[in-house]
Amino acid sequence: SATWESVPQAPPDVIFQLTAAYKADKYEKKVNLGVGAYRDNDGKPWVLPSVKKAQAILLNDDTVDHEYLSITGLPEFVASAAKLILGKDSAATSEGRVTSVQTISGTGANHLAAVFLARFYDWSRAGGEKKIYISNPTWANHKAIFNAAGIEPVDYPYYDAKTVGLDFEGFTGALKSAPNRSVFLLHACAHNPTGVDPTKEQWGAISDIFLAKGHMAFFDCAYQGFASGSLDADAFAVRHFVAQKNIPLLICQSFAKNAGLYGERVGALHVVSASKKQEAAVKSQLSVIQRAEISNPPAFGARVVSLILNDNALWEQWNKDVKFMAERIIDMRKQLHSLLTEKHKTPAPGGNWDHILKQIGMFSYLGLTPKQVKYIVDEGHIYMTGNSRISMAGLNTHNVAYVAEVIDKAAR
Ligand code: PMP
Repeated sequence: SATWESVPQAPPDVIFQLTAAYKADKYEKKVNLGVGAYRDNDGKPWVLPSVKKAQAILLNDDTVDHEYLSITGLPEFVASAAKLILGKDSAATSEGRVTSVQTISGTGANHLAAVFLARFYDWSRAGGEKKIYISNPTWANHKAIFNAAGIEPVDYPYYDAKTVGLDFEGFTGALKSAPNRSVFLLHACAHNPTGVDPTKEQWGAISDIFLAKGHMAFFDCAYQGFASGSLDADAFAVRHFVAQKNIPLLICQSFAKNAGLYGERVGALHVVSASKKQEAAVKSQLSVIQRAEISNPPAFGARVVSLILNDNALWEQWNKDVKFMAERIIDMRKQLHSLLTEKHKTPAPGGNWDHILKQIGMFSYLGLTPKQVKYIVDEGHIYMTGNSRISMAGLNTHNVAYVAEVIDKAAR
């Protein structure tokens, strides 16, 4: 039958396409710097020791069954997840102003937040159109998620190619010129794809504009712990905004990276309201949306994370695990920087390679041209996206010298 004959072929996802090309490549020295998943020093996926221990506890616990969770998820998971991002002594939590709902990892949190905003944000007081301002560039999926929810994504300036750093003037200019009460998406830490984050002082100036303009902050927090190695330090921007009290905000939280639970889909959406009464209404509506979409979220990963967040020994182990991953990545930054700068004296975009050291989190934007990237992929069998974003986690002591050598050749 001709039922689906008129369905046009959609383009494949760039990142997953890159992984497929890498897998099919027979070259011995091939390297995958495309996908944003942590790898150990042998290029292998890493199950965190804290996660292994939590899994073992769950497997031996006869009270664990396979019943449905409630619509909003595992209560002890969402409560401790909120504490992790907001801090132990958050006034917003003690005043009962935080609605927390378990989601299908960070993607699901972004989606649930988008659907909720599309339905309930007062757009008439925010310029009249359903728009969200997103950094240029941003995680590629943001556009698709907001478009699917009927919210138009609009770019704000973020990355400055000349300095390979933050376009602070452009960013704050966009905050100032947007209609009052606009919705701005902010990466809580370790900006994807650039690795460029505002400094603490810059976050202060940014939050002042949010306050003055009545903007809403849509935080996407996919890398807590990955930026600095400290879960608390990486929560700085979110906690600073929450402390301002009068900034409406929400946080999309993922445990894919910091707990290495990519496929288990563990995440949460936290909406911070102005009052307890609003909190209850928000929770009721998030439940209505969630019920129609997924009924209730998956249990296993949430149980693992909940154990880790609520058991002293596991918590300490997890903090070590996160620090270990972050430090290995930071060490790779140092090694790549030193090879390009000292060994090869490779000509750099913007004059030097210091951006590799300054950039934060899993990714680095090398600042190379599409032509240079093509050379690296085609001749070096080193896989990266056309914008020269590399996953630092794909580097290790066995391949970093080779990668530096190929970048050097491409840059000359
Ligand atoms: N937001 C950002 C900025 C991300 O980089 C990612 C992961 N690539 C996510 C959200 C969501 O990932 P997940 O759904 O696996 O938690």
